[in-house]
This record gives sequence, structure tokens and C-alpha cells, in this order.
Amino acid sequence: MKLRRSRLDALIADQEHLSAVTRENIEAIQLEKLNRLLSREADRGGFYRGLPERIGSLAELSSLPFTTEEDLARHPGGLLLCSQAEVQRVLSDATSGTTGAAKRVFYTEGDLENTVQLYMAGLGELIFPGSVTMICFSFSGPFGLGELISEAITRLGATPLKLGCALSYGEYAAVMEKEKPDTFVGMPVQLLSILRACGRHSVQRALVSGDACPKSIMRGCESLLSSRLFPHYGSREMGMAGAICCSAHEGMHLRENHIIAEIVDEDGRGLPWGEWGELVITTIGMEAMPLIRYRTGDITRFFSDPCPCGSETLRLDTVKRKKSGTPMPAASFSSSLLSASDLDEILFADECIVDCRYDLLCNELSVQALTVGAVDKDAVLSRIQDVAPSLSVTLSCRSLCPDDQILYFGKRSL
Ligand SMILES: [Zn+2]
Repeated sequence: MKLRRSRLDALIADQEHLSAVTRENIEAIQLEKLNRLLSREADRGGFYRGLPERIGSLAELSSLPFTTEEDLARHPGGLLLCSQAEVQRVLSDATSGTTGAAKRVFYTEGDLENTVQLYMAGLGELIFPGSVTMICFSFSGPFGLGELISEAITRLGATPLKLGCALSYGEYAAVMEKEKPDTFVGMPVQLLSILRACGRHSVQRALVSGDACPKSIMRGCESLLSSRLFPHYGSREMGMAGAICCSAHEGMHLRENHIIAEIVDEDGRGLPWGEWGELVITTIGMEAMPLIRYRTGDITRFFSDPCPCGSETLRLDTVKRKKSGTPMPAASFSSSLLSASDLDEILFADECIVDCRYDLLCNELSVQALTVGAVDKDAVLSRIQDVAPSLSVTLSCRSLCPDDQILYFGKRSL
């Protein structure tokens, strides 16, 4: 069966006035937009004033310095390329690195419109006119994530159910029973928790984003839905919209007319396609706050083989956060750092666990789990000890009540 080409190709062709999207014309567009950006930055004397006004090839991009999360916290004004009056929305991050200042990202109306258009391309793979879609991302006011997704769903001729992430399981179940959604949009663990706590009801397909998606979570969701998940990747720095899954389900196609992507090793050296490393982005399509060689802290790789759907855009493999902030006392632990994803991978492999919360203090890890049925506690504890042998681990389980809520409203952490 011939697969339909990723809807991203049609979007890029439309936005860039192309008859076909090839590597050659994508890269020509990237170089042209990058040089336009460098020239504007040189003119205005902002944060990037020391950079050359133009470069001769995309390969020369690697000679420019990186931009870091600290820079976003320290120089928000210097990084803003449009006027304050043109800023439609600002996202502030409580996590501040070492500066004590909050990281801020700005968007114009055009940036947010581009985000909605990418959501339409990604959601268009699984949502059809007449679909009813439950949105379980937060609704934080006009132009918030939930609202932008809702707008994309409405434009696709479908009905958005704006549920957010703070309902109780009993409330989710009641809405699913009454409104009969066929699709879900939200975070991966949240989807698995809802499916295990409430049952599948009429939900058939799901787009997941916003957090890491460990393999046991993905397998659990796909088995309960009897369909493949559509993962999406986006970060605030790229307008919350970066890469979408096509019907081949082999990675996520990157919106390359807005983002030039590189993969680098820990020392910042470029890595070839196929190798795992940190994703570095140059956001040539962002109007308010374009970034040059921003180190995302996300670990992934580019697929090196062509996608069966025929699109020539770069595809990202699974994305994980770079491990930081939780050093393990055990020298024997393979990476010396433990993440919530590592623990999720173990805990959710037990089908009776609906959700769990982690607290790590010195070398004591406390895990609280909400359950439906009897968890094999010995097996779970033994698997945690396998990856973290020097930790003292306690696991407490409680049966789920309808009033319980999801334990992490945002990204899962230790
Ligand atoms: Zn594809």
C-alpha cells in the first residue's frame, strides 16, 4: 500500500510557494532565511551583533557560537527581533538554570499562526472532519497551548473538547462516556493513566507531546488503543511546534522551513545523520525571537534512510531530555544520572499502575503509585534496584479513587 506523504510537505510547499519539496530547495530556503536573519541582526546590533552578516553555505553555520538557556534568561530584550508592540504572547519559565532569572520566549501573531498551521498538518494525520477530540493540555488563556491546538482542530472541521489536565479520573470518564471522543491529544503518561483508570471508551487514536515517551508507555498506550501513537515534538523556543509524525510512524518530520537542525556531541562537535546527540536549532522562521544554534538539551538523532512516505524532510527519532540535576550516588549506575523517564519505563511496565510520583532525597527514593489491581511490588522494586543499586527504595501503592488526579500536571521529574 502506498503511504500518503507527510502533510508537512504540503504545508511547506504552500508557505514557500514550491511545487515540490526536495532537500535541494529546502536547503536553499534555509540558507536564504538564515542570511536574511544574520543581516537583520547585524543591522540592529542586538544579542547576535558580533556574527557575520552572511555565510556562504549551510556548512558554515557550525562556525557560529551556540546560544544557551542561560542566554535566554539573561538577554530576553537583546534577543527580541520585533517591537514590543508586535509581541502577542510571552512564555516565562520558572526553571532558571544558574542565573536566577526566568527564561522568557516571545511570539508574534505570525509565530502563533505558524504554530496552528503545523498543528493542523500533524493533527490532520489522525483527525477528520466530524471527529471529536479530547485535549488534555493546559488551557492558560488566549494563545496558550490548549487554545492553539483547539484552533487547529476547529479549522480541520472537528470538535475540540477542552478538558485540560486537572480533571479527576472520574470526571474524565464521565466526559468520555457522554461526548464519545475518537481522538486524544495530550502527554504520553497522562494518556496511559487515563486509559488504565477510565478505560478506552470510544477513543481510537492519539497524538502525544509535551514530555518524554518511554517505550513501555508507548507500548501500553498502543496496545490499549489498538493503534499506533502519533508523537509530536515541540519546544517553546520553536513556537511549541517542531516535528510531526506521518502515517509511516517512523520518526517525526521536522518543519525545516522554520528550523535548521543539527546534532552535536557533548563538546559541541557536529555528528552525522544516524548518531545520537543533542539537538541544536536555528529558528529561521520565528519572527519575534529567532535563535541561532540554540542548544535544546534534548537528545535525539536524525534518521538517515528515506521515509516510506516519500517526504525528504529530516526526521527526528524519539526525543529524551538530557539528564541533569539528579546525580546518582552509585558509581555503578550506567550513566550516573537517573531520570523520571528511567523510572517510568520500569513502573508502567506493570499494567496495574495508573500513575506514580517520585521523590529522591540523598540516596532515598520514595515512589507512590496509584493502582488498579495488585502490583507485583517485589518485581518492580527489584527492577529499580537493578538500575540504581545504591538507592534505598520504598514503593507505596494505593488503590485509585474516582477523585484522584494525574500526579504531574507538567513534565515528569524526580
Ligand atoms: Zn514520513
